[in-house]
Amino acid sequence: MLTDNFGRRFYYLRLSITDVCNFKCTYCLPDGYQCDQPRDFLSLPEIKRLASAFAELGTEKIRITGGEPALRKDLPDIIAACKQTKGIKKVAITSNGFKLPTHLPQWLDAGIDAINISIDSLDPRQFHAITGHDKLDTILKGIDMGLADGRANIKVNTVLMREYSGKSIQSYLAWLKDTPITLRFIELMQTGENDAFFNAQHVQGSRIKQNLILDGWLPVIQDKAAGPAQEFYHPDYQGRIGLIMPYSKDFCDSCNRLRVSSSGKLHLCLFGDSGLSLREQLQSDDVAPLQAQILSLLGDKKATHFLHEKLTGATKNLAMLGG
Ligand code: SAM
Repeated sequence: MLTDNFGRRFYYLRLSITDVCNFKCTYCLPDGYQCDQPRDFLSLPEIKRLASAFAELGTEKIRITGGEPALRKDLPDIIAACKQTKGIKKVAITSNGFKLPTHLPQWLDAGIDAINISIDSLDPRQFHAITGHDKLDTILKGIDMGLADGRANIKVNTVLMREYSGKSIQSYLAWLKDTPITLRFIELMQTGENDAFFNAQHVQGSRIKQNLILDGWLPVIQDKAAGPAQEFYHPDYQGRIGLIMPYSKDFCDSCNRLRVSSSGKLHLCLFGDSGLSLREQLQSDDVAPLQAQILSLLGDKKATHFLHEKLTGATKNLAMLGG
């Protein structure tokens, strides 16, 4: 079992399969993806070995992320490989959904259980201003298709930004009234490259939480492999709201996830150092050395991140590692 020195158990692996992204989100890659080193992403056989090694150590859920994971042509094969791994109960993806109506049937047929789509505004002009793309209608169409299909649990991720909060939250609430989806507000996180943006735009999720509770929203009890969101439901709304508040007290106490980058490095924390390579051990079908390496590296996991001290580690932007 993957357990660290603080007694935390790791049921959840976030696996990045590429760091390339086609969006230019203002808080993440405002100048677009910059190709500054040769790409050598994990291959399908390497991903299969990684999934088996983690599953035998107690991992139950794999989230495929990026960059933009849908830019990889073999994504359906990767989903199927993770899904067919003994011990993996849930395969999820985080995507910007740029071609969701086209991709959705392939992902569902491959066995995806949960899909998180990032939508930072329900206003098409604001959406374009944030992402550099005019794709909101396409993405919403894909979400409606997914809800009608019902095989995968669909959630939406929205980064909280001062400039857009307030009016935006009202439009999300109106949407959630009749849409059976979970919308998760993510507090903007500081990274190596977004200092000025962070200082201008960071809004605390705790304010929103207080207002939700005053308005009658009630907490949902979470599963042990669940993500970091505190979730709320309301009898008058079909949708739910989640809050991801990495700056809140004790956020790291319930950490249940590890990360592997698209180049095969184990990251013990999103805001840790530059990652520890598993690539050599990923070349063999014998996963025992790989597991020994993961277990030994886990001993270095720290109790918390150091974001409060403005220490963002080696993370220049979250596309590098998948958020
Ligand atoms: N391309 C995919 C997507 O857009 O969902 C997956 C990768 S993206 C890095 C994963 C998530 O991280 C997205 O929901 C994105 O909005 C969020 N994210 C990126 N940078 C962030 C930051 N500085 N603070 C908070 N969330 C961030």
